[in-house]
Amino acid sequence: MRNEIKHHLNDSILMAYAAGALPEAFSLMVASHLSLCDTCRAQAESFDALGGEVLESIDGVDIASLRPESFEATLALIAGGPVEKPQPAPMTCSVLPQPLRDYVGGDLDAIRWTPVGMGVKQAILPTSKDASARLLFIPAGTAMPDHGHHGTEITMVLQGAFQDEDDYFARGDVEIADSDMHHTPVADIHEDCICLAVADAPLQFDRLIPKIAQRFLRI
Ligand SMILES: [Zn+2]
Repeated sequence: MRNEIKHHLNDSILMAYAAGALPEAFSLMVASHLSLCDTCRAQAESFDALGGEVLESIDGVDIASLRPESFEATLALIAGGPVEKPQPAPMTCSVLPQPLRDYVGGDLDAIRWTPVGMGVKQAILPTSKDASARLLFIPAGTAMPDHGHHGTEITMVLQGAFQDEDDYFARGDVEIADSDMHHTPVADIHEDCICLAVADAPLQFDRLIPKIAQRFLRI
């Protein structure tokens, strides 16, 4: 049985994912969330369809010869480089969604943790340098490591839960933080918390969005 996800990705991020325009770490985050969240998956598919319509409206393109996956390839050409985006996959009984399993080569037992103090461990995932992705292990009842936010940071719960001043985040929930955000998340007392966290510093994610919106909406 899947729990109800209350904290979702926003349209800007889903649109950028559909366009294949996200840094690898953020694509991994989105694909992992979509594996757990029917709501965002439906929304992402609607952006995929929208992108397809934009393509069809371009004069001189032989639509009949385009396969469905050509949309991303075409956008990649426009953007000036090849894009490989991790694909969402159905949820399994494992803690790690399939896109993440592909990165670590298995489930939890395949993760190579590095202790960072106070019982907290992390595992940095190999992605392109424009953004970073890491898995975090926070023992039950422990405060998350204190850190500043530079640019946009997204955290998704994979196991356990955490609580901050305003909200409670359980498996599949995402928290989107920006530079102005100051808070103190604490892992739920009942279970060790494992999260995926991605950050875009020093790249300015927000500046990317208007370009992508233009691409879809021709504004
Ligand atoms: Zn969602």
